[in-house]
Amino acid sequence: VNTKDARASLPLLLEPEFVVDEEGRVADGPVRVEGGRIAAIGPAARRAGAAVVPLTGRALSPAFVNAHSHAFQLGLRGHVEKKDAAHAHDDFWTWRTHMYALANALTPSEMRAVARAAFLDMVRAGFTHVGEFHYVHHAHDDERARPATRDDHAMCDAVVEAAADAGIHLTLLETGYARAAPGKPALAGQRRFVFDRVDAFLAHVDDVARAHPHVTTGFAIHSVRACPLDWIAAISARAAELRAPLHVHASEQTGELEIAMAEHGRSPIAILDDAGALTAKSTVVHATHASDDDVARLAARGAVVCLCPTTERNLGDGLVPARALVDAGVPLAIGSDSQTRIDPLLELAAIEEDERLRVRARSVLVEPGQTLAMRLWPIGTANGARALSSDGGRMAVGAPADLVALSIPSSFAPSGDSSGDALHDDDRAHALDALLVSGTREAVRDVFVGGDHVVRDGRFFTIDEAAVAADARRALAAARKRAAR
Ligand SMILES: [Zn+2]
Repeated sequence: VNTKDARASLPLLLEPEFVVDEEGRVADGPVRVEGGRIAAIGPAARRAGAAVVPLTGRALSPAFVNAHSHAFQLGLRGHVEKKDAAHAHDDFWTWRTHMYALANALTPSEMRAVARAAFLDMVRAGFTHVGEFHYVHHAHDDERARPATRDDHAMCDAVVEAAADAGIHLTLLETGYARAAPGKPALAGQRRFVFDRVDAFLAHVDDVARAHPHVTTGFAIHSVRACPLDWIAAISARAAELRAPLHVHASEQTGELEIAMAEHGRSPIAILDDAGALTAKSTVVHATHASDDDVARLAARGAVVCLCPTTERNLGDGLVPARALVDAGVPLAIGSDSQTRIDPLLELAAIEEDERLRVRARSVLVEPGQTLAMRLWPIGTANGARALSSDGGRMAVGAPADLVALSIPSSFAPSGDSSGDALHDDDRAHALDALLVSGTREAVRDVFVGGDHVVRDGRFFTIDEAAVAADARRALAAARKRAAR
């Protein structure tokens, strides 16, 4: 008996303790799901003809959106924390050599196995949509850089298949990469990332989009370091023509700022703005070292800034000017980036907590009368959906039923008996803030993707998580062996 199909055809009535929307506001449940979408919210949704799913002691929220990921970097986790005797100073640039070794070793089938494990772990953590910033293009493992051929998209196919295997929504951000630095051709370690000409890259993206019509395809400019001005302008123009999302790493490292200053006399964000790369469809990833002028440019163009605080901590990037971005009205999103941690609640809390450390104050991003959840919840949901051109990330009738049920911290949990001690709105709001300051991905107990109840009480219902992890482990062992040769 295929219970999954039988259930999918029947409307669901999700009965949580309470509902939270993408603005971090609390309300009464239940939520009715029909045809993979939210059909009704609140007491009026309680009609007959639905399978009731009790979510006692849990808050039901739009699922989280992971706006910036490099899935294969899951394979670096735990392998890059030791100091190399030849490099007494370990930093982003030494980390990068380890990352290149793995990127160059992976075959398409290994890429699929690692990405599948990363994507599955994201779903388990409450992310149901990922923006994969994909730059490991060419399947060849030649010693020489070789020109891209039009049909060379086995690595992109691997990522698309991995997302389908894991049941996560994917926005595939095909990434342009031209050079090591201004006037410097790609290094050996970068040979899989580069295309000879920008039109060869754009033709490649066309082919990938045609091969995967059901996947949202967007564009990425790897960075101002890796792309000259004519590439930045051409990729931006193509993204605008197709109304596709455009993502770019910018101002993550001070070394990158120095390179941009030397080549253009301006910051990476100013260069992107002047080249037409910043629009309301753009997402700037990191913006760690954004100046006041950079922040004003981002705000004027309506671009999203995607923060990846747990990765930025791991790589020693620096502290982002979060207060300045928020004050200017720049929408923020989150990404798991290097996969050091895959945990939406930790990323969200870190945005406020890192800013507290930076400015030595409390409740820095929160306005009077606002809860912490009201500040951070849009960052984890609606803003990420916007960055990925998704219509998800919302608790609204008609929105996709991509939902998570979060366990309410025990100090707020109602007794569960019939004493009538239901949570009032104030308690509910405080419970969400408690989740943010004390919770982790372990609070995510249920995940619904397009109305499918894929994670139940913290376990996948139809997917063998252990088998997926074992496949990834085998693939990574093979790739590391090849990299060491
Ligand atoms: Zn990145």
